[in-house]
Amino acid sequence: MIVAIDGPSGSGKSSVAREIARRCCLTYLDTGAMYRSVALVCLERGVDPEDAEAVAQVAREIAIEFAAEKDGQLVLANGKDVTSAIRTPEVELAVSPVSANPAVREVMVALQRAAGERGGVVAEGRDIGTVVFPGADVKVFLSASPEARARRRAVQRQGGNLATGKDVAVDAATEEAILADLVRRDEYDSSREASPLRPADDAVHIDSSELTFEQVVDAILALSPELSARAGRAGA
Ligand code: C5P
Repeated sequence: MIVAIDGPSGSGKSSVAREIARRCCLTYLDTGAMYRSVALVCLERGVDPEDAEAVAQVAREIAIEFAAEKDGQLVLANGKDVTSAIRTPEVELAVSPVSANPAVREVMVALQRAAGERGGVVAEGRDIGTVVFPGADVKVFLSASPEARARRRAVQRQGGNLATGKDVAVDAATEEAILADLVRRDEYDSSREASPLRPADDAVHIDSSELTFEQVVDAILALSPELSARAGRAGA
């Protein structure tokens, strides 16, 4: 069983994909964390994110692992816990050219497909339904207005999580900077030549701007009898 969830930054993909994986006893695959890990290692080694060959070399050598943790998932790059380090504005700036690099994508897509072959997954990213798993059982393109996405990210950075109702105060300047970064990354991701962000022809579009977290999760579970049955069987 493969569930593909694509969409722009901050559309709520991560929380939704994680919850569906949990409820349906599937493995959650955060492909954005993989590109972020490559970008982080480049920054740590002083590799220019625009130096295509040097970045490709980092991608070929990196070992990325995911480890389950009580409240989520740890991301390990070359054996080191990088869960927080891959979420900084510096990495966010470096990840666009890194993920637009076709040689990097080739390596990451192969790793993602290998994870899919090991069992059922809920994979989230930009090209899951179009490139990584074109034959996925369920394909969703999750979007939301840029403002709604910026707000979610801003709250997340302050330790809150709108998906779980944990709201926190954020200052307008931070939210505006996040909005500008999201718009910049969307533009970069949508216009790049290698696997641009676009919905698969057979993806179901869900706009989460006005929906609660539970409504989005339920809408996705309802797309497939097998998924609903798995969620039911898991008793959640
Ligand atoms: O989803 P997240 O914001 O963590 O992704 C970080 C970056 O990784 C995106 O801005 C995008 O450039 C890249 N990405 C990608 N393909 C994916 C997942 C993420 O190009 N499947």
